[in-house]
Amino acid sequence: MSFIAHGLRCTGCGLIEDHVFYRRSDGPPACPACNEKRVVDWSHRKFPGVKGEGYGGFTPVDMGVLGYCDTKEKFDRAKSIVEERFPGHTMQIEADSRADKQTRADEKRHRTWLQRKKNGVDEQLMAETRESNKAIRREAERRATALNKNAKAAGQAAVKAKGTSATQAALQGRPNVKIAGY
Ligand SMILES: [Zn+2]
Repeated sequence: MSFIAHGLRCTGCGLIEDHVFYRRSDGPPACPACNEKRVVDWSHRKFPGVKGEGYGGFTPVDMGVLGYCDTKEKFDRAKSIVEERFPGHTMQIEADSRADKQTRADEKRHRTWLQRKKNGVDEQLMAETRESNKAIRREAERRATALNKNAKAAGQAAVKAKGTSATQAALQGRPNVKIAGY
């Protein structure tokens, strides 16, 4: 149930009313003077978006520190504050088109996808690292046991040494996993 405000011109007697509120689904109400059909007419040039319309007649704008403006009056107040602080500048709010909203939604989806992809790669990398560390530790433990040395200490030392060589590789700028956009 949405309401709209239009200037209406009567097709019978030509009477023009500046702002007639009516239910969009019902269409323009008949002329109060002659009961004829009326059509939308903007000849008065007073557009609802330019005048204060109270709640619901204005697309809310979040003005950050100046607060949430859900009426044209609040928005105008915030706008004048901004323009006072930045003399010589004017502020323009561009209305969102359906395409803008779609673009934002697409961008958000793409970022989410990138994030998931990145997390997925990280998890895969960590799993591979864990597997590789396990193998290195087992091998070092096996060798230490054969030489009658402390197997646990040898295993830990081997994993630590491998970690150091990985750090060295990174410092030397050898290619690492890279995700486009990051
Ligand atoms: Zn009429």
